[in-house]
Amino acid sequence: MKLHEYQAKEVFSDAGIPTPDATLAESVDEVVSAAEDIGYPVAVKAQVHVGGRGKAGGIKLAEDREEAEDAAESILGMDLKGYHVDRVLVEAAVDFTDELYVGVTMDRGEGKPVAMVSSKGGVNIEEVAEEDPDAIAREHVDPAFGMHPYQARKAVYDAGVDRAVANDVAGVLTTLYDLWESKDASDAEINPLMVTDDDEVVAADAVLNVDDDALFRHPDIAEMEEEAAEDDLEAKANEYGFDYVRLDGNVGIIGNGAGLVMTTLDLVDHYGGDPANFLDIGGGAKAERVTNALDMVFADENVDAVVFNIFGGITRGDEVARGINEALESMDEIPKPVVVRLAGTNAEEGREILNTDLVQVEETLEDAVQRTVENAEEVEA
Ligand code: GDP
Ligand code: MN
Repeated sequence: MKLHEYQAKEVFSDAGIPTPDATLAESVDEVVSAAEDIGYPVAVKAQVHVGGRGKAGGIKLAEDREEAEDAAESILGMDLKGYHVDRVLVEAAVDFTDELYVGVTMDRGEGKPVAMVSSKGGVNIEEVAEEDPDAIAREHVDPAFGMHPYQARKAVYDAGVDRAVANDVAGVLTTLYDLWESKDASDAEINPLMVTDDDEVVAADAVLNVDDDALFRHPDIAEMEEEAAEDDLEAKANEYGFDYVRLDGNVGIIGNGAGLVMTTLDLVDHYGGDPANFLDIGGGAKAERVTNALDMVFADENVDAVVFNIFGGITRGDEVARGINEALESMDEIPKPVVVRLAGTNAEEGREILNTDLVQVEETLEDAVQRTVENAEEVEA
């Protein structure tokens, strides 16, 4: 689960990392009143899960009421790299002399968490890592001991951070590591960590991604989930318990099992189609899950055709087929053509049961995907 900037900042701030005064706002009026309360200048920042919001026009500084209105009007409702912005964070603008980067993530190659510091903050850190890897100081941490204070100081020293703020930056890094561990995070990051005129450090941005499978241990963060869902479909997926990723094509894809769905995505691409989503309904395919999955995919306006790729394992093919029939028969209309490919246990029985008035049945995955891509092309034409 990815937290929004404002949510991550709450968590960081509770742990003692300095963050600017801030208020979440959903309308121009709310932005202005937040700005008046906080005091100008303020930064108005789009709350969507995309990087590089600054360059894309999702962050604006405002010196007065008029500028705050302008910023709110231009950012609220905007489309930022495919995401609709309906909330902004209004925060006290930071007057900075330096922008640093601090982050903690898992280094899978080393099999250990790694804490990182760079003096080249404020820009895309992946680019820094590629072009100038030495500009990022790294310390691997033994999770049994946690990060030793000397390690934090060494990373800060190696990154060439100004001595006046070195202790504070080391403190932030230590807190960030502790949060990373205690919150079961996959990534914790501050970019930029701003250094002010009077040598204070402030987290101007915040990233915290928490392992979904550990959410049950963090009810406070799990509670933020619904709010963090980017759009209605993602909220629906959470509600139904599906693994769902929205993509930008027009071929809806449903399957049981992540590998199976990924393969289907690849094949759709291979046959010249464009996947609209990844949707894994997991084990079993009872009518209710099938109905929910179709409901989600049909609700996506971009979808022109759907392919259902089911592999019968413990859930037998005939059961799945009954589930699909029941789901489709309960619908008033089937708005987009659906192709079903059924393999595995009792696949043949399943294919015989499927109601071919409602779905197109194909025996092989290749045929199913090709037919779906053709369906999508026809609808589009
Ligand atoms: P991102 O581009 O989505 O990562 O958004 P950030 O929050 O990291 O902001 C990007 C850039 O906007 C920063 O590196 C700053 O240069 C600028 N910025 C953000 N907040 C402030 C602020 O409070 N004051 C000033 N002067 N610049 C800011
Ligand atoms: Mn940033």
